[in-house]
Amino acid sequence: AAKQQGRNRAVVYTPAMRQVVAERVALNRAMIAALADDEIIPFYQPKVSLTTGRIAGLEALVRWRRSPHNVLSPSAFEAALTDPELAVMIGERMVRRVSSDVRGWIEAGYDCGRVAINLSPAQFTHRDLASTLLRQFHAAGVEPSHFDVEITETVFLGRSSDHVAPILDDLYRAGVRIALDDFGTGYAGLIHLKQLPIDTIKIDQSFVKDIESDAFDTAIVCAVIELGRNLGMKVVAEGLETVGQARFLWEKGCELAQGFLFFRPLGDVDMTEVLRSEDDAAAAARLAMFLPD
Ligand code: C2E
Ligand code: MG
Ligand code: MG
Ligand code: MG
Repeated sequence: AAKQQGRNRAVVYTPAMRQVVAERVALNRAMIAALADDEIIPFYQPKVSLTTGRIAGLEALVRWRRSPHNVLSPSAFEAALTDPELAVMIGERMVRRVSSDVRGWIEAGYDCGRVAINLSPAQFTHRDLASTLLRQFHAAGVEPSHFDVEITETVFLGRSSDHVAPILDDLYRAGVRIALDDFGTGYAGLIHLKQLPIDTIKIDQSFVKDIESDAFDTAIVCAVIELGRNLGMKVVAEGLETVGQARFLWEKGCELAQGFLFFRPLGDVDMTEVLRSEDDAAAAARLAMFLPD
């Protein structure tokens, strides 16, 4: 804003602005230390098939583990994920750790499905984002076809929106699949479904929450499920917390779901244990939670 006011005008910092700048500087410093201390780690949340009960894939979610019992979610360090430099550093760390976990699971013979990595708009400022990701997968010795990337509609609003299509095309050609996250909450993008290689639509939790009681939410969710079916895209419902929600989505033909009902996001050790013990009985038990007898 200061720049837009003209070059000859002195910029007056108010105490509030000073505070914002000071907080930014402090967060930057803390985040760089956290990266150096290996405190930035992935948690994983399985995506469950509502038809088989099986784990169909995982989503990697960034966490800041300040100590074993103080693990922060991204809302606590959102400013870092929107800062162009820190977002890239955090993104590269996540990809490195996730690739190495995936490699370990493959070597152990565990089926983790595709593992999704969330990308923030700030990472799209770099036109070489696709080649950076592919190089990291290659370095870890894992095929790109083991990964999804999740983007939100906000990437199309950013200054680097021109980069989005070529980056996604490059990833798609290499075998990475693309999911549109938080669908319907941002800048509505049916045109993006047409123009970009989108494989999966994720229905935001805000539409799922009251799905049984709110006619508006029911209509939206049913329309998105139908849209996905007609376009040949997968649909994932996010944030399932109740048996009622699961049964409702299953009745409507929603194929995949994610939420605390099935799994909370898990650290790598717990995730490995879930994958190790995954079998027909575990899948059947998940179905039995919500299927009518
Ligand atoms: P998202 O990608 O839409 O992730 C879903 C969020 O919903 C996650 O929050 C997850 O923990 C939470 N969630 C899952 N099931 C339930 C449920 O049943 N109930 C409730 N109340 N919440 C549920 P989280 O991990 O705090 O992540 C929030 C957002 O931060 C993500 O939204 C994503 O946009 C962003 N994010 C997470 N990890 C990364 C990352 O590695 N890189 C980037 N750039 N962004 C990330
Ligand atoms: Mg996501
Ligand atoms: Mg989401
Ligand atoms: Mg979200």
